[in-house]
Amino acid sequence: MDRYVIRQRRVFHARPETAFTEFWTSVTIAAELRRLGLRVRTGPEAIDLSQVPALPGPADLAQAADRARAWGAGEDDLRAVLAGHTAVVADLEGAAPGPTVAVRVDIDALPLPESTSSGHLPAREGFAALDREAMHACGHDGHIAVGLELARRLSAGDFAGRVRLLFQPAEEGGRGARAMLGADVLAGVDRLYALHLGLGLPVGDVAAGTHGFFANSKLRAVFTGRPSHAAAAPEEGRNALLAAAQATVGLYALPRFATADTRVNVGVLHAGTAPNIVAGTAELGLELRATSGEVCDELERRARNVLTAAGAAGEVAVRIEQIGGATTARCDPAAVRTVARAVRSLPEVTGVHENYRFGASDDATLLMRAVQANGGTATYVVVGASSPAPHHSPEFDIDEACLGIAADVLERAVRGTAEDPAV
Ligand SMILES: [Zn+2]
Ligand SMILES: [Zn+2]
Repeated sequence: MDRYVIRQRRVFHARPETAFTEFWTSVTIAAELRRLGLRVRTGPEAIDLSQVPALPGPADLAQAADRARAWGAGEDDLRAVLAGHTAVVADLEGAAPGPTVAVRVDIDALPLPESTSSGHLPAREGFAALDREAMHACGHDGHIAVGLELARRLSAGDFAGRVRLLFQPAEEGGRGARAMLGADVLAGVDRLYALHLGLGLPVGDVAAGTHGFFANSKLRAVFTGRPSHAAAAPEEGRNALLAAAQATVGLYALPRFATADTRVNVGVLHAGTAPNIVAGTAELGLELRATSGEVCDELERRARNVLTAAGAAGEVAVRIEQIGGATTARCDPAAVRTVARAVRSLPEVTGVHENYRFGASDDATLLMRAVQANGGTATYVVVGASSPAPHHSPEFDIDEACLGIAADVLERAVRGTAEDPAV
């Protein structure tokens, strides 16, 4: 059992931070990478926030900064990240010429309180979240640990080519990858490996390639009507709550598509202030997904119509804003082959999948497409983790045996990339 990678996983598991507030997380990652001798980029050099929708507000940022200080982040290090610049990019130069290989891991947690049950290993062993508002419920704590372990193993430079490690914030919600692209972090990259732990695979199984990514679009709709007395002047009101409720029902009535698998979810509805006031405001948060980018765009177009029409029916103004998204992607056979070859050389791997069905979304797809658009190749690797509960649930956990396996797979894939004639 590899202690370093497990120790790191537990340190990050205990300190979960959500999208664009990964202050302690990114400062700690950068410090560890510098200690290992890597060239590290942080702040605006690693991420461009100028086009990011729905960034956390000043109060949320200030609260997150105080928490990071309480966890020991130093003021000098924090300064670079405090506006939400929480990406970290690190470069390693190999001893011989070769391709530039990027590995992307995501680092954010979810807004979800962690289970305190004694059956939940992090609670039982004392490394559950120190903050009740967030939890590493998707395995990104493990991704960070594997990324650092990879840096440790490659830090001597005994490989051909260059390695770039991308520690990406804000995967949940689908905003971090696009923002990192804005800082040109993929310049010169010939091959990209994206990693996820778990996703239904048991420990010992590894997917060298995946398919079935959902493109998605996340929208926020703000309904603005007019409040009024519920008994004395109801006709003077313009009911934003009712418009939002009608829009919700209408959104779930969007059609299925013959050409793609789709999903619709309204996950947020806040409205009104008191039972005796016609609700003047309401806010909906929703997402649309499809296994085809075109169908996802069409779903979004129709969803906007439903929202606007529900507002118009009640004379309520509607403002719609896209707050995140991801696209579909395909894994390149050459990249899948390199990983599959690496996986087959590992005795601890018992099941190898070359085209595993992903069945969810990840904005790594934007990075994969960007590399492919520049003539490079990419694959999305899944390393089995045997969680007792689904991703995004309070009892989610990874079997830590997956961490060493993931590091072995990626190390061998990175080292093996230079031997691939297609790169
Ligand atoms: Zn997730
Ligand atoms: Zn995830």
